[in-house]
Amino acid sequence: MTHKVVFIPGDGIGPEVAWAARRCLDATGVAIDWEERPAGEAAIKQFGTPLPAETLQAVRDARVAIKGPVTTPIGTGFRSVNVALRKELNLYACVRPCRTYAGVRSPFREVDLVVVRENTEDLYAGIEFAAGEPRTRELVQQLRSWSQQPIDADAAISIKPISRAASERIMRFACEYALKHGRRKVTAVHKANIMKFTDGLFMETARRVGKEYEGRLTVEDRLVDATCMQLVLRPHDFDVLALPNLYGDILSDLCAGLVGGLGVAPGANIGDGIAVFEAVHGSAPKYAGLNKVNPTAMILSGALLLEYLGELEAARRLNDAVAAVLREGRQVTYDLKADRNDPGAVGTKQMAAAIAAVIRRSIAASS
Ligand code: NAD
Repeated sequence: MTHKVVFIPGDGIGPEVAWAARRCLDATGVAIDWEERPAGEAAIKQFGTPLPAETLQAVRDARVAIKGPVTTPIGTGFRSVNVALRKELNLYACVRPCRTYAGVRSPFREVDLVVVRENTEDLYAGIEFAAGEPRTRELVQQLRSWSQQPIDADAAISIKPISRAASERIMRFACEYALKHGRRKVTAVHKANIMKFTDGLFMETARRVGKEYEGRLTVEDRLVDATCMQLVLRPHDFDVLALPNLYGDILSDLCAGLVGGLGVAPGANIGDGIAVFEAVHGSAPKYAGLNKVNPTAMILSGALLLEYLGELEAARRLNDAVAAVLREGRQVTYDLKADRNDPGAVGTKQMAAAIAAVIRRSIAASS
């Protein structure tokens, strides 16, 4: 069966890592009909917008895409392509597996956890009011009278919507994901002792949904501050973490740090019957075009894509090939070497080629 997949190279280091992933995916022999579409700087040049309607429509039609990182232009009025894409396509769950690999320096061994982040609401909803503007002052006045709190007249305000529906959807997603992937435990993370209504609702919903999984999963909840401390002390106590948007953003970087950094952290944004796969890291503009950065995160995002398509054997082969190249530590990028100036470090393309070669050898050996 041929799978149609939209390929969005992105900008900055995006095209380099996205092509590295595409080469490795092709090496698995899975038949993919690639449809390339622009986003980010390339799209601005061609269409005057970083997220053209054509690109969105292509993803809507194909239902699956892999995307390189995209720069968020500062102060130009463009929204973040990443946030817009998640919203427009209702990709409500962001899934970020974090596991240690031999050969990747990290403070821990054998960490294997998954961060499931709610993608559509919370302080990320973009409902903000700038300090000093007339309507912000008006809002402050109103809030003062409603809350009886002494809010500074010049305060900026961000709004944090948390709904029962979105909390329930993400908790159920995390629990179903845990069951499907043979995991034991889901930890819902919140700050319900302080934000009694927003995080309180998230906690209450998590507990209610958790009850439905009694006997099949352990479902617990913890405060976000305590969770941060416990993650860096005892990461092995965690399995699947389910979080509202902002805590999810922060803890997924923390968890990426536990297993060796952004260079090895893959991700997926998933909705109902639609998914966009991308690395956790951004477009690292200062490295663009240098054939220098680590393609692992993007290649592992490709393995998640294969899994999503049901190509489980190819996904395992791709994961194993990445693990083998990392373990050997020879054909790896500078950031994976003990000394970042090691002249033996290879480029992005060469590391991807080494992974693709392991995949081809593994296919040849099994046929
Ligand atoms: P970044 O992840 O792009 O880079 C931070 C640093 O991490 C880099 O300078 C580099 O040292 C390191 N790094 C990142 N990826 C690496 C890789 N593959 N190999 C080796 N080292 C790597 O974060 P930033 O500098 O905060 O953001 C740059 C731009 O990317 C911003 O415009 C931001 O909005 C955007 N961004 C996009 C996405 C996305 O497209 N999903 C995600 C995050 C940030």
